[in-house]
Amino acid sequence: MTATTTHSRSRHCQGVTILGSTGSIGINTLDVVSRHPEKYRVVALTANRQVNVMFEQCARFVPEVAVMADEASGLALEHKVREAGLKTKVHAGVEALKSTATLPEVDTVMAAIVGAAGLLPTLEAVRSGKRILLANKEPLVMCGDVFIQEANKSGAELLPIDSEHNAIFQCMPAGYRPGSSHEGIRRILLTCSGGPFRGASMDDLASVTPEQACAHPNWSMGKKISVDSATLMNKGLELIEACWLFNITPENVQIVIHPQSVIHSMVEYLDGSVLAQMGNPDMRTPIAHALAWPARIESGVASLNLFDIRRLEFEQPDLDRFPCLKLAYGAAKIKGTAPAIMNAANEVAVQAFLDGIIAFTDIPRVIEKVMEQVTVHHGPTVEVVLRDDTKARRYANTYITSLDDGRKGTAQC
Ligand code: NAD
Ligand code: MG
Repeated sequence: MTATTTHSRSRHCQGVTILGSTGSIGINTLDVVSRHPEKYRVVALTANRQVNVMFEQCARFVPEVAVMADEASGLALEHKVREAGLKTKVHAGVEALKSTATLPEVDTVMAAIVGAAGLLPTLEAVRSGKRILLANKEPLVMCGDVFIQEANKSGAELLPIDSEHNAIFQCMPAGYRPGSSHEGIRRILLTCSGGPFRGASMDDLASVTPEQACAHPNWSMGKKISVDSATLMNKGLELIEACWLFNITPENVQIVIHPQSVIHSMVEYLDGSVLAQMGNPDMRTPIAHALAWPARIESGVASLNLFDIRRLEFEQPDLDRFPCLKLAYGAAKIKGTAPAIMNAANEVAVQAFLDGIIAFTDIPRVIEKVMEQVTVHHGPTVEVVLRDDTKARRYANTYITSLDDGRKGTAQC
């Protein structure tokens, strides 16, 4: 741990950077932070293009720095901030975004950018020894071993925000550090709501619209993770995330469909004890937990009413109707760049589905095709991961175009 970090963590009021502050996790983080002005101070906020939401956040929290990844959006925000007479400095571009993760006055970085775009800024934060609240699961899926090694070197604390991984962390032995080895654990039970199409037939799945896929029954989230939750790729990504964070093999992670989303995951010990973390499905619980860890703070989440819930159900996942989960188990076992290739293909396929170019059931087809075509590299550096990510995106786009052209051709016949 660096001297700067030790010094700054001992201060009373923690400096916070939120990468992806205009998204679902970013907004929930600001909600929790705003409940504790004496404990947390917003130092930097970043987003991609949502100028109006970012401007409102700047007006309310007056961060020292606000960064838009998109240059034109940066100019638009700067204009608004200047007109309003706010003291916030506005920057744009990826380098500026990365620098917000390493500012000396920052103790905690919320990593809440969606997708692979969060990899480099989150890695910067890890290398500078901050406390990282890790919501952005894709970078860990892409190069989990690099993240764990870098955190070990810098002394960064990697605290999971994904509700399942935060639950597992809460059920681990006291003092457990994510990524390290452990004794006495038999397996992890990773819960999954089953998404909006749990009982749907294959025919129903083929005609799913983006609006239906984004309407999750229990959680309110960004569009990409909502589609991932509907295909169950989200659980596949979470399986790989769990393997890195808790140093466990995929064979020792059991995915359990639990439609009520009240148990957020469980840890089973060698003596047969199973510890579960429960609560209402509200991301402010894991955010507050990781912000204050090892202390506890008020999050704004209502008490769990077990009399209203009455029953908790559990089912096996159906890998035939939800092949993304099977693909993720495969990638988790192959390792190397396989998870990064799978993740890149998934990001491209989900965007094509949201844009109305491919069907919901084409998403696993695209991923499978890309995983067959792009060669996996083992023991990869970040550069190799990014190279395979680019190859996979290119191949996914080509395949999607061929699917689209084929269908247009058929329609014209
Ligand atoms: P979101 O789409 O609501 O927000 C994404 C944020 O990232 C926005 O602020 C956006 O401006 C920013 N962003 C998007 N593309 C960017 C780019 N190219 N460069 C820089 N910034 C960019 O997403 P979300 O639902 O808040 O999810 C964020 C991350 O947290 C995802 O990785 C998701 O898997 C994970 N997560 C979310 C939830 C949830 O409940 N929403 C739960 C668990 C994990
Ligand atoms: Mg989750």
